[in-house]
Amino acid sequence: MHFARFNPVRFAHLPTPLEPLPRLSEALSGPAAGGPNLWVKRDDCTGLAGGGNKTRKLEFLLGDALANEADTLVTQGAVQSNHVRQTAAAAARFGLDCEIILEERTGSTAVDYTQGGNVLLDQLLGARIRRVPAGTDMNLALAEVAAEVHAAGGSPYVIPGGGSNIIGALGYAECALELVAQANGMGLEIDLIVTATGSAGTQAGLVAGLAVMGADIPVLGIGVRAPRDVQEANVFKLAADTAGLLGHRERVTREMVECDCDFVGAGYGLIDQLVIDALTLAARTEGLVLDPVYSGKAMKGLIALSAAGRFDGETVVFLHTGGAQGLFGYQSEMEGRLT
Ligand SMILES: *Cc1c(COP(=O)(O)O)cnc(C)c1O
Repeated sequence: MHFARFNPVRFAHLPTPLEPLPRLSEALSGPAAGGPNLWVKRDDCTGLAGGGNKTRKLEFLLGDALANEADTLVTQGAVQSNHVRQTAAAAARFGLDCEIILEERTGSTAVDYTQGGNVLLDQLLGARIRRVPAGTDMNLALAEVAAEVHAAGGSPYVIPGGGSNIIGALGYAECALELVAQANGMGLEIDLIVTATGSAGTQAGLVAGLAVMGADIPVLGIGVRAPRDVQEANVFKLAADTAGLLGHRERVTREMVECDCDFVGAGYGLIDQLVIDALTLAARTEGLVLDPVYSGKAMKGLIALSAAGRFDGETVVFLHTGGAQGLFGYQSEMEGRLT
């Protein structure tokens, strides 16, 4: 896989660390008792205004935007979107304008949710924010804002929600290469990678990268929004298309895509006590700060599947996709629920 062909621009702090989680492993019954040996790939440490998984995607997307002489990035997300925050930061870093559309997807009107966390950072980073109600056709909204920018003499570059298209997903194909190189260097045999999956680009990029290089490491996506059949279809299509961009579409097969969407709870961005328990366990065993919308839900799933024996005897790498900035949007929601 020859990523230089795609002219990414480089600003992420890479490689991100690959670290063992001995105390969390032990809490999940651990290798000594036949349970999983957990590791974490720290993609919360990619360095762009707090970091997170969108930064790797943005290296390729910004490369494409600059090649197209764009002067304005246009993107969308939920109110507490980490993708939007990282896009706003990337725009600032390259002197571009940034137009963002926030969908009021969760219905929360708490001031910390609507103004704090990622929203505060979006403003600090100089993005122009528009808000639209839940259920808005976000692709249409993106096209409308792009047309406005164009009419005002600007040159817009539209980044889809989550940065999840074939260009963005290249960032996670490259992460697959980085992770396998790290594991080889340490003599670590990985049985499974677990990640949160939303707009699909992260899992799809990993699957594409692993398949194209022939690494034979399965990836389990823990869904945060869509039901399983929809999520798996989205991941599969994007993984195949991304592998196609790398010249080897046929190497991605449908069996390589597995999502478990049983941990969404009441819906996207809505938390429950099991999510809070997962955040608490990761924080108190490893000092690891997860987020309530993605990595916390993935950890909720990992804990439950681990208790059911799914990972017995396996070395599992949990991809920490970031998002801790969004935690501060959930302060009132979590009030009194930390035991
Ligand atoms: C966007 C996001 C994800 C999901 O990644 P996708 O590529 O959208 O599937 C996971 N974790 C965090 C913290 C995110 O911001």
